[in-house]
Amino acid sequence: MIKYRLICKNCNLTFDSWFASSGEFEKLKKNKYLNCHQCSSNSIDKSLMAPKLINQSKIENFEKNSKKFKELNKTIKEYQKFIKNNFDYVGKNFAYEARSIHYNEKKNNKGIYGTASNDEMKELKDEGIEVEMIPWVEDKKN
Ligand SMILES: [Zn+2]
Repeated sequence: MIKYRLICKNCNLTFDSWFASSGEFEKLKKNKYLNCHQCSSNSIDKSLMAPKLINQSKIENFEKNSKKFKELNKTIKEYQKFIKNNFDYVGKNFAYEARSIHYNEKKNNKGIYGTASNDEMKELKDEGIEVEMIPWVEDKKN
């Protein structure tokens, strides 16, 4: 089954109608079985305006979002560069290293960065250790 929005070219009435297939619509139209409820005209056609508008706005949204995403990506990468230059990478030992700095007052003027699970992040925060989660984009060149 396929639903078409039909338009009467005579009086501009639009109405929805169901057909078994697009072929059935063409057949009924050719044999003038389609007529307007309002003026009985046989000048009925598919109205393509509604789906076109929807598709168009979807495309625009997608383009807008991908542009936003590119800008965001750029910001993240700049942030990553700053972190890489100013922080020590500790990889998966992040939670451990963060604790040693916090509890042993290990002299470390540089901050650290690495990976931690959500649970680890929560634990660190609960212990009063300052941690920040940032989005990270993998650099494909490396
Ligand atoms: Zn009509």
